[in-house]
Amino acid sequence: MAVRADNLDVRDDFSLLIGGELVGGDEWLDVINPATEQVFGRCPAASATQLDEAVNAARRAFPAWSRLSYEDRSTFVTQYTSVLAEHYDELAELLVREQGKPIAQARAELDSCLTQANDTVELEIPVELLVESDTHRIELHYRPLGVVGIITPWNAPAALALGSLSSAVYIGDTVVIKPSPYTPLTTLKMGELAREIFPPGVVNVLAGGDELGQQLSEHPDVQKISFTGSVATGKKVIASTAATLKRVTLELGGNDPAIVLEDADPKAIAKRMFFACFVNCGQVCMAIKRIYAHEDIYDELCEVLTEEARSARYGSGLDPENNLGPLQNKMQFDKVIEIIEDTKQSGARILVGGDTPDRPGYFLPPTYVTDIDEDHRLVTEEQFGPIVPILQFRDIDDAVRRANGTRYGLSGSVWTADTERGKAVAQRLEVGTAWVNQHRAISAYVPFGGAKESGIGRQHSVLGLKGYMEPQVISVTNQESG
Ligand code: NAD
Repeated sequence: MAVRADNLDVRDDFSLLIGGELVGGDEWLDVINPATEQVFGRCPAASATQLDEAVNAARRAFPAWSRLSYEDRSTFVTQYTSVLAEHYDELAELLVREQGKPIAQARAELDSCLTQANDTVELEIPVELLVESDTHRIELHYRPLGVVGIITPWNAPAALALGSLSSAVYIGDTVVIKPSPYTPLTTLKMGELAREIFPPGVVNVLAGGDELGQQLSEHPDVQKISFTGSVATGKKVIASTAATLKRVTLELGGNDPAIVLEDADPKAIAKRMFFACFVNCGQVCMAIKRIYAHEDIYDELCEVLTEEARSARYGSGLDPENNLGPLQNKMQFDKVIEIIEDTKQSGARILVGGDTPDRPGYFLPPTYVTDIDEDHRLVTEEQFGPIVPILQFRDIDDAVRRANGTRYGLSGSVWTADTERGKAVAQRLEVGTAWVNQHRAISAYVPFGGAKESGIGRQHSVLGLKGYMEPQVISVTNQESG
């Protein structure tokens, strides 16, 4: 068990999970509650030796685990989601304390990943018949890869860990999970609960800093990295995996455009658009990060979105009345403040928000900006915070060109009364997912991932599951014809 710290005000009941054992570490990671800026929890940080132990445990567990049937493994996963559901309130509160999001959004994160895990294990990966003749039969099978390293960011730690974990173990891989050092605690608790269900070594959880992620990516006994995080780190991960030619799924950042056509009704869509901009304080890979509004509805859209922002409440995520929590960490908070300052200096117009409240916690109000240049960093970068530009267009070709004028390509949306026209515009967006009249809708049955620099590969659906597997051709002919 982890060694207990002396400071009783700070929660320290967290352990690493290695080979079915809950263990401590030689060093500790402090975890800050972003609503108070105080350390509220600490957990062991894994050493390079413990990483080796975890990978070895996963490697040893792999042969027996991968030989089980899909049905047997799906039972393990659903038993696991039941145990997680029994600890729902405890996990949701811990998630709020370490991540900052409002309690309703923490619950929504847990709800969606539990549903997604349960739905994932309903998916089937059938053998594909490629050629069949009197003499030949060629089939395409999919085999599990071995040990998968799962590296997650701080914005949705529970969902991103469980999403990759459930996919990987369901198809027969074993896993070593490394959450962000900013938000390791919910994932460690999920590891503790995984110990009650999975055979030793199938699921291992290690907290640690960026260097642990790099060591995991380089490890010769890891066959795949499932990485979720920023574009910059994704590029480092792919470099680290090159020496061993690991398989990778990279789920990276986005700069999602939302195009609002002239026939859209601003009042009807305002609440959904506001939520898609500012859920989790804008710290969502697929949040709306730029709005392109047709000139005919531009003023009205600005008005209704401003109204939504004015009526939103921000503050501690534990207060159910609040719709926005704090930014998750000081680095992100400072970055967004810098963007706000740059925006003000550029002469752009702040419609609502834009101030930096003088209070503890990394809080910023929801902010909409207009009259901003297309090449301003608020438009070109992934801001990952509660400030969104509203830009005007007259001609749809121009809007599509500007929406696509980015190295990002995660997702985007089109808002219109005419769904057929919306679909036609959606098809022109260079993104992994293009929604019409919605944004951020995901499910276990639908692949999700980025085009361009927003990622490689897909999560979820059969396509996503195949990313955790190696295709294998089985080509058979009879003795006489071979
Ligand atoms: P980050 O890239 O800084 O860190 C992500 C994880 O990578 C952390 O666990 C970190 O410790 C680890 N890491 C850092 N350096 C590493 C290295 N050299 N090798 C291996 N691992 C390393 O990202 P973040 O700031 O925690 O998260 C925010 C980013 O994540 C945003 O860009 C957001 O859009 C993106 N994101 C993408 C998706 C998606 O599905 N596409 C989902 C959520 C978040």
